[in-house]
Amino acid sequence: MRISDILQKKERTFSFEYFPSKTIAGISKLYETIENVKDLNPDFVSVTYGAGGTTREKSFEIVNQIKNVIGLEVMSHFTCVGHNVEELQDSLDELQANNIDNILALRGDPPKGEESFIQTDGGYRYASDLVKHIRMRGHFCIGVAGYPEVHPEAPNRETDLKNLKFKVDQGADFVITQLFFNNDDYFRFVDEAARIGVHCKIIPGIMPITNFSQIKRFAKMCGAVVPQKLVERLEKVENDPTEVALIGIEYSMKQCRDLMERGAPGLHFYTLNKSAATRILYNAVNPI
Ligand code: FAD
Repeated sequence: MRISDILQKKERTFSFEYFPSKTIAGISKLYETIENVKDLNPDFVSVTYGAGGTTREKSFEIVNQIKNVIGLEVMSHFTCVGHNVEELQDSLDELQANNIDNILALRGDPPKGEESFIQTDGGYRYASDLVKHIRMRGHFCIGVAGYPEVHPEAPNRETDLKNLKFKVDQGADFVITQLFFNNDDYFRFVDEAARIGVHCKIIPGIMPITNFSQIKRFAKMCGAVVPQKLVERLEKVENDPTEVALIGIEYSMKQCRDLMERGAPGLHFYTLNKSAATRILYNAVNPI
């Protein structure tokens, strides 16, 4: 089923993001984790695509399993990195043959060891090129990435928003945001995008806070700011993982409830392949 149809029918959607584990044991564990969240009825789950196409086989195997064996709706992340247009086309054919209807079309992060994105010979430069290609080819519903705190490589906010608008105009159906911790950043982004004509749904991406060093690492990588007051609270207990998780989850719960109360169209959880924190946050906004 196309995610655009789900978004049209439902006021709010809940989705969970996973990454391909490196080992066979890790992948079995991942399937177990996904089976375990089936009772939450996620509207869709998504599987990331490793830098440089390094996880192509695994990512595709996992989306195939989720859709055709586990029986959940799925979205395959897909990037321009390391592929020419023929290879991209082959990948799209494979996804379609496996009954996959949804793609998150991304430029992609540079492979390990490389500082910046390098366009492959005969490949694409921006996510918008990939969106255009997929839209012209047909079949797929297309999501794209958005950045409430501005993409780290963008010269400024206005340019980044214009680039988002162009990407959506090429044929994207919805946007999922980079992780953020301050909801005002998200609502400002949604308002500014709407003002320049981006009217599709913009789903906030949420990373549950359970580990201080991990959250600092991710925030730095994505250019997201962890609010100073929260940093101070976490610093005071940083040697006590249980206290860190308690404070972090309490913050994430408030963040998710506030997003729902202020009208966000759903939540996309960066699960880091774990289910406990995601389950707590899901239950916080869907009381039984
Ligand atoms: P783009 O939209 O192409 O933007 C990249 C930069 O180029 C931005 O600064 C933008 O302002 C600028 N730009 C865009 N169009 C133009 C133009 N026409 N002219 C000039 N400048 C332009 N990465 C992975 O490798 N695998 C994943 O599975 C993955 N999943 C993600 C999921 C989500 C929800 C998000 C938010 C990000 C994900 N990423 C993933 C990270 C993403 O690949 C990086 O953030 C990457 O640096 C940018 O990708 P993009 O698709 O946003 O690129």
